[in-house]
Amino acid sequence: MTKLRFLFLLVFAAYSAARSVAQNPTGPHSQEIDAVYPAAHDLYLDLHEHPELSSHETQTAAKLAERLRNLGYEVTEHVGGTGIVAIMKNGAAPTVMLRTELDALPVEEKSGLPYASKVHSKDDAGREVPVMHACGHDLHMAALFATAAIMAHSKDTWHGTLMLIGQPAEETISGAKAMIADGFATRFPKPDVGVALHVGNEIPAGAVGITPGIYDSNADSLRVTIYGKGGHGSAPHTAVDPIVIAAKTILALQTIVSREVKPGEFAVITVGYIRAGTKNNIIPDQAELGLTVRTYKPDIRKQVLAAMDRVVNGESVAGGATREPLIEHYEWSDSVYNDPALANRLRGVLETTLGKDNVTAPGPITASEDYSFFVEMGIPSLYFSLGGADPTKLADAHKAGTMLPSNHSPLFAPDVDPALRTGIAAEVAVLRNLLGAQ
Ligand SMILES: [Zn+2]
Ligand SMILES: [Zn+2]
Repeated sequence: MTKLRFLFLLVFAAYSAARSVAQNPTGPHSQEIDAVYPAAHDLYLDLHEHPELSSHETQTAAKLAERLRNLGYEVTEHVGGTGIVAIMKNGAAPTVMLRTELDALPVEEKSGLPYASKVHSKDDAGREVPVMHACGHDLHMAALFATAAIMAHSKDTWHGTLMLIGQPAEETISGAKAMIADGFATRFPKPDVGVALHVGNEIPAGAVGITPGIYDSNADSLRVTIYGKGGHGSAPHTAVDPIVIAAKTILALQTIVSREVKPGEFAVITVGYIRAGTKNNIIPDQAELGLTVRTYKPDIRKQVLAAMDRVVNGESVAGGATREPLIEHYEWSDSVYNDPALANRLRGVLETTLGKDNVTAPGPITASEDYSFFVEMGIPSLYFSLGGADPTKLADAHKAGTMLPSNHSPLFAPDVDPALRTGIAAEVAVLRNLLGAQ
């Protein structure tokens, strides 16, 4: 082959690839996405600038509900607090659910973006906190809105019942439970299948990740109160110092994962806060620890929680605590299980829509989600990952051996245009497939 001919073939191949991406009738740059994208992007900016904390998503829910109602969906508001359920019936079964979260986090945005949040509000304890969409739920809502518009405008491409839900309070893993307690299962048609996605910086924008089976971790939140005996800081012999017991407890807890759990099994114990004392020369009478525990497998979860109980109690006895520590298991959710057959079927759909190279297999993540409560209601589901990272920045980070700011970071800033477009394209393709179009 001559050099010139080779060059011509190379240029032709690139041209054909670009043409096929541009002409892909369901891809991220399709006409139907172009038509709704400006409104979706406007909603994204509005939500990003006006974030609301978990269980307080009043304006957020109202904005989404109004838009869905205008598109012709039958919208029920205030389901489990601020939750919304929007339904569009379009012929016979099946019923397919698509879920977004509504809430933001108490994080001070430091992204430097022109649309960065400057919002402060009161948290449930009455403290003034900064608020930011640091988990990307604003992008999920914008994608759901655009998907809702495309589905409403193309009812000849699908049949069945489309159910869109806006779930409050995901970050406190209480919103799904609240919606279910508010009659989600009885007031609305039961979905045959459920779909949700989450944006993150581990995957480049333009791509998605599918993990059949276990998608994320079991989460257990514990509060431990250690009881000592208060006294003067100069006279420890007259007191029992709960801070020292707490310090030993924290270190001993870390040996559970390193010394008791079988190497290779996933388990995390994190002490996220320790609260004790008011002044340097006072030995307080109690200390409080806040913990999160993450596991994949039920037997490992059971083993770790039992070991924690033993270690916390044992360290209190060893430290001469005045009474047994109080261990409160106040919050939990199970890992989300992706139906393997469904995951494999939809992988094919997403490969067709986004290109084979843009569908990755990232494996389970260590975070947790209360979407698992919907799965446990008997809704087989696919929860997939949506790439949010600027591809160039991600490649540079990989080269440098560093990582881009993760979800919940004050610097979290998804590469909106490709990520949002890809989210919409993925949702529409998946819904059309599940609603019997292909
Ligand atoms: Zn989050
Ligand atoms: Zn999230």
